Parts: sequence; C-alpha cells; structure tokens
Amino acid sequence: GERTDTLLQTDDLVKRFGGFTATDSVDFAVDEGELRCLIGPNGAGKSTLLKLIVGTLSPSEGSVYYDGQDVTDLDPDERVQRGISMKFQVPSVYGDLSVRENARLPIQQFADGEERRRRVDEAIADAGLAGYEDVEASTLSHGQQQQLEIGMAAALEPDLLLLDEPVAGLSVDERDEIAERIQRLNREEGIAFVVIEHDTDFVAEIADTVTVLHQGDVFREGSIEEIEADPEVRRIYLGG
Ligand code: ADP
Ligand code: MG
Repeated sequence: GERTDTLLQTDDLVKRFGGFTATDSVDFAVDEGELRCLIGPNGAGKSTLLKLIVGTLSPSEGSVYYDGQDVTDLDPDERVQRGISMKFQVPSVYGDLSVRENARLPIQQFADGEERRRRVDEAIADAGLAGYEDVEASTLSHGQQQQLEIGMAAALEPDLLLLDEPVAGLSVDERDEIAERIQRLNREEGIAFVVIEHDTDFVAEIADTVTVLHQGDVFREGSIEEIEADPEVRRIYLGG
C-alpha cells in the first residue's frame, strides 16, 4: 500500500501474565495504508500484541496511540469506533447461526437499518459468500469460514485491520484467495493491515514490511528480502 503518516504507535508496551512477561517494552508502528506482516516463533507474543492494540487485553505498562490519540484506556468497542478491528486466532464464527446472522453480529451495535444491511451484504459478497446467506456457518469449508471472519471484521469499516493467522490450515488455493482479498482491501479501501502468518511465501506475496517478534519484543523490521536474508532471524525463527 501507499505509505504516508503514522496510524498506530505503541510506546514501551508491556504485558505480564503473573510473573511471565509476554510483551516486553514493544515500540511498534504502522503507517496509514501499510500492509504489515508480523512473524515470529510460537509464544513470541504476536497474538498478545494484537490484543493489546485492539483492546481486549490491557497493558501492564505503556501506551497505545492511534491516529495521534492515546487510546490505551479505551475499551474495544470505542476502538472499533476509532477504526481498529480484529480477526482473532481463535474462531469466532457460530456454527449453528447462518452466514448472515454471523456477519451481523459484530456490527449490530455500530450500525442499524439500511446502513447495517448494506455493510452486511457487502461483507458477505466480498467474502465470496453471496448465495450462502441463509446457510448454517458450520457447513462452510474452513476457508469460507476464514473469509466470513475477515468479512465480519471488515464490515466494521476499519482503517486498521488486525488478522491473527487468517490462512492457518488452508489449502494453497484458499490462501491465494485470502491474499487477493487482503491486497484488494488494502489497495482499494486503503485499509492498513497487521497480519500474523507463519508461511513466508504468503508473507512475501502480501507484505510491504515485516516485523519479527521474539521473546515478547521486536527483533527485526524490514522488507521480506531483508528479513529472509538475516542470519539472526534464520537462527531464531526460520530454522536455517
Ligand atoms: P504467539 O501468538 O506469538 O504464539 P501469544 O501472544 O499467544 O504468542 O503468547 C505469548 C506468551 O504469553 C506465551 O508464552 C503464552 O503462553 C503466554 N500467554 C498468552 N496469553 C496468556 C494468558 N492469558 N495467561 C497466561 N499466559 C499467557
Ligand atoms: Mg498467536
């Protein structure tokens, strides 16, 4: 995407769970319209960092700035209204509800009437699920469920969309569809992304920039070429 001003900035962000430090003084920034991938070993603190940004976790120390304002004390709904939304690693689709009912869930407190209908219809169409509106979500493929989840987060019309492992366990074709979708939302709607993903081919295809997290802190940042060529990154993560 086109890079301009800073959209998100964390300042010395710390999250402790008991005596364990999951997020260790993280300074992390995302520009408007940037497509950023976040990689790192299991347990590095990737999911925790995104939850601190969207506000489902509160930091032990430090601050989150969004659009130039301190949002550290805002709850997730207030952050949605500012323009941050997230697809979580753990599935949040209800299998016994229809596609339309699922798509409506996250946005129901933010829009109503015609505006809500428009956003739900758009999210379903954009997820490639037109015609599946009344189908029970449990009958969708894993790839379609991930598409629906992205749609549920995108229907909030964010300026920053956080995706925690949107292609884990998907086929190559399903991955390609999600890569195209993310790139389309980035280029056409100008949405900035932070995408957690392990597959470096997927990361190479979509990312403007890559942040490597290790033991709760930023280890490296750069282009995918710089990251893949870095011997220290290979040692801690890529297994080279
Ligand atoms: P990643 O997404 O990079 O795999 P996480 O952010 O999920 O890592 O977790 C980072 C570390 O914090 C892990 O060691 C994990 O066990 C720990 N952790 C995450 N959430 C909690 C929690 N709610 N309570 C205790 N420990 C947690
Ligand atoms: Mg995780």
